[in-house]
Amino acid sequence: MIVTVQKFGGTSVSDEQARRHVLRHIVRERKTGRGLVVVVSAMGRRGEPYATDTLLDLIRQNGNSLPAREKDLLLSCGEIISASALTSLLNAEGIPAVALTGGQAGIVTDSRFGSAHILDVNPSAILSHLESGKVVVVAGFQGRTEDGEITTLGRGGSDTSATALGAALRAAMVDIFTDVDGILTADPRIVRDARPLPVVSYEEISNMASNGAKVIHPRAVEIAMKAGIPIRVRSTFSDGEGTLVTYAEAVRRQPGWIDRTVTGLAHFHGVTQLSVTLDNAPYDLQLRVFRAMAANGISVDLINVMPSGVHYTVKETDTSEAVRLLRELGFEPRVRQNCAKLSVIGGGMNGEPGVMAKIVEALTNRQISILQSADSNTTIWVLVSEAEMADALEALHAAFGLHLTTSLLEEDIDR
Ligand code: ADP
Ligand code: MG
Repeated sequence: MIVTVQKFGGTSVSDEQARRHVLRHIVRERKTGRGLVVVVSAMGRRGEPYATDTLLDLIRQNGNSLPAREKDLLLSCGEIISASALTSLLNAEGIPAVALTGGQAGIVTDSRFGSAHILDVNPSAILSHLESGKVVVVAGFQGRTEDGEITTLGRGGSDTSATALGAALRAAMVDIFTDVDGILTADPRIVRDARPLPVVSYEEISNMASNGAKVIHPRAVEIAMKAGIPIRVRSTFSDGEGTLVTYAEAVRRQPGWIDRTVTGLAHFHGVTQLSVTLDNAPYDLQLRVFRAMAANGISVDLINVMPSGVHYTVKETDTSEAVRLLRELGFEPRVRQNCAKLSVIGGGMNGEPGVMAKIVEALTNRQISILQSADSNTTIWVLVSEAEMADALEALHAAFGLHLTTSLLEEDIDR
């Protein structure tokens, strides 16, 4: 049986009106005759009654005191409610449907409560429901250990549920429905000119996602890539095709693909830069610094090592602990808080001259200082102050002509 997986995020199932749009996509997919598995997130955002953050608020009053196991029990309810509500709507519309928890759907995880990893998927229950002609609605973001304990997969976990089910069912497509038109060239909440990309490679989106673009979870992309299952990221509230995510070689054959150096931008804020430099630095300064960070579970990023010392970044929340450790070693670090790490990403920048020059020029023209930088063959990272982050992203977006992405495509179609 050919199967499609559709995943609907929190805002897509938040109210009756949104669920009508969900219904529209389900009805359209049913017409193709494929088996249909629908993965849902909890309904809505903080403040709405069954949203994940609202459930968490129930224990906040008690100082969050609840063991991780029970916390997962609580959190798993949001998706179960959502799956049941959608199943009710489908039944009322005469579409046979069944709701399953993650565990009932065959998702087996390890027992890391709160951020469990999927070990295995046994799709036999789903397959028998599909064979009887039902739409299978699965509660996202959750699984079950071999001992039957309920677990959750961490933030963005429903994306992972969807691609893991897609891989187990050898799905023809995993459609990730959300509140934007696809994967955009930058976060549309910050860059007004951000444009949907018609097609990107697994590597590019995985790179964007792990550098802060929260449109899809990086683990979900990794699972789809390993299994070779195509993903489409698209809007619940329109009929647009969204963004196709596939292999780099296949990307080049897709309509709408443009050969460009830079595909998109991503960002993290809440970053602190630490610098330890000395005129006569001891030969093992770097070793002592990074050993102390590692021993205390502080992850370090944007590392620049020089004979005189080191510059690196940590998460804002790790700042005081990192500074304490450095002082313990006898170093007085320079601490720069409220920084943002910007990522300029593109499979096409490998070996392409002038990319860094363009970045520096774009930022210098707006009097934005680059506090630090690093690069790989597909990404250039720059650290700027958080106050200048939005301006910097706009500048880089314009410099690489990313706002032209869609208009070029439209011209192609006109011709
Ligand atoms: P869902 O609840 O459907 O999973 P998310 O909030 O997790 O939705 O992801 C969608 C959001 O991701 C968008 O509303 C957008 O603000 C944000 N986002 C960040 N970067 C990007 C990007 N490059 N492309 C599209 N959306 C992005
Ligand atoms: Mg999400």
